[in-house]
Amino acid sequence: MQKESFNVFCPECNMLVEAKVITDATGKFQSDALNPDDEVDAMYNAEHYTVCLCRRCNHPFLIKESLQGVPAEFETVTDTVVLYPTESKIAIEYLPNSIHSAYIQALRSYKVSLFDPCVLMCRKCLEGLCKILNVSGSNLNKRLEKLKEEKHIDDRLLKWGHQIRLIGNEAAHDIDTPISKKDAQDILEFTEAILIYVFSLTQRYEALMKRRQTTSK
Ligand SMILES: [Zn+2]
Repeated sequence: MQKESFNVFCPECNMLVEAKVITDATGKFQSDALNPDDEVDAMYNAEHYTVCLCRRCNHPFLIKESLQGVPAEFETVTDTVVLYPTESKIAIEYLPNSIHSAYIQALRSYKVSLFDPCVLMCRKCLEGLCKILNVSGSNLNKRLEKLKEEKHIDDRLLKWGHQIRLIGNEAAHDIDTPISKKDAQDILEFTEAILIYVFSLTQRYEALMKRRQTTSK
């Protein structure tokens, strides 16, 4: 499974690029076989690491592929993750499925320079967030205010939320003024911050507290 290149998003070029493989290596390998003789017929999981350079600007990438297969039968890539450069400093995790899907669409739109759809999907992330948290109100404006009232977000996040809502509205209704790249990037990053605050960090904090409680017993 020697690859010569990967298609990745280059933050320098701000576009999808072809990155040329410079070197690669296999990392962790785990076979389901109970003894070495059975390994050839047993399912295995492995990790493969590749270093690449952007063909346009030479920006480096470290890519991890998760592999699954049976020796001499098949091997498939089950997951591909860009380990460097990371897209976000704090991992955006524990997102409910519906919000995750909207967020991924926002991210993908940005990466192919579709800034209006990017902002629309960011707004949809907020709509999803209100729904998941059972926040009621006749429109997004009121639902965002309710989010703050119910202490899911604070004043600052509420302000960011309103900008996402307003710029999202512009993208939906103002046909003459396209959303700029800079505005789309800001809206995407403010959306990420709200999702990280409400879902990722909240869950991690709860897990931390649980861990502390069990270790202190
Ligand atoms: Zn590049």
